[in-house]
Amino acid sequence: EPADEALRAAVLGPPGPAHRRAVAKTITLLESTRADHRARADDLLNALLPHAGRAVRVGISGVPGVGKSTFIEALGLHLTGLGHRVAVLAVDPSSSVSGGSILGDKTRMERLSVDPQAYIRPSPSSGTLGGVAEKTREAMLVCEAAGYDVVIVETVGVGQSETAVAGMTDCFVLMQLPNAGDDLQAIKKGVMELADLVVINKADLDEDAATRARAQITSALRLLGTHAHVAAQVMQLSARDGTGVADFWAAVTRFRDAQQASGRLAARRHEQDRAWMWERIEAGLRERFRQHPAVRQALPGLTLEVRDGTLAASVAARRLLDLMDSKEPN
Ligand code: GDP
Repeated sequence: EPADEALRAAVLGPPGPAHRRAVAKTITLLESTRADHRARADDLLNALLPHAGRAVRVGISGVPGVGKSTFIEALGLHLTGLGHRVAVLAVDPSSSVSGGSILGDKTRMERLSVDPQAYIRPSPSSGTLGGVAEKTREAMLVCEAAGYDVVIVETVGVGQSETAVAGMTDCFVLMQLPNAGDDLQAIKKGVMELADLVVINKADLDEDAATRARAQITSALRLLGTHAHVAAQVMQLSARDGTGVADFWAAVTRFRDAQQASGRLAARRHEQDRAWMWERIEAGLRERFRQHPAVRQALPGLTLEVRDGTLAASVAARRLLDLMDSKEPN
């Protein structure tokens, strides 16, 4: 479509209001569930792909109230001040469950949202976590093609969303509060293993507690034995006061430079793309299975037989899967 060609050109064009509108419009098209929109979005995405991939991709996670939006605003303003262009995206798993949103409801990042060098996009508001994560990945590619050279992906510290965000970023940052309880919780959940950097926020409230937490988490990470190659660094800062924000960015840059030099960055991104492809294949197969007419027809009866104990679950599954090979009636 000529309209989409103009959209592509505007996304790749110089910064300004028309450029922002084009980015927003493209992402909206990508988020649409209409089949004709999806076809256009696929074409657009492919046309933009050669221009994507050059940003520093940073994931930021932490429980509600830890200070994510305060921190991202301080970081974003710091970065635009350095001449970077910053996109902020979000993966909000709550929106798919409750229809409400943990990340998006309040007015957030008021100063960053009016910075012409920044672009803030809330989480896609419906779909499974896999679907929300897919849209966010695609939005990330659009932002990169549009010239944003830092992409920050935010998520809340609940459930699988952290794994999803760690799986689409170059550097995954876990934000913690300066009290001992929740670092242990994070270790239990296996989230600590995902972290490339750990940030203890609100150090201004209790410097001693923050220092203790830092020592605790550092030794916990050492015990976990992950990141044998690059020990995850633990830092303390105050998002509210902006202290430590510049050091944080220096640490991200160091980490990413080291990853790039060793080839791990390329390997990480390849692995992420491969996993993303398979995640989408599996989701697509599941959907096709459920939609298949023969499967839909047989499913209730076979489910009953499994419940009644007259058919083994595994046999029912095989029969249903075989039905997918049957010809669809015209
Ligand atoms: P989010 O839910 O993780 O996005 O957290 P917010 O950024 O909304 O912050 C939650 C509350 O903590 C707000 O009242 C912030 O003003 C406050 N806050 C955030 N960072 C700091 C900090 O470094 N020090 C202090 N004292 N308060 C902070």
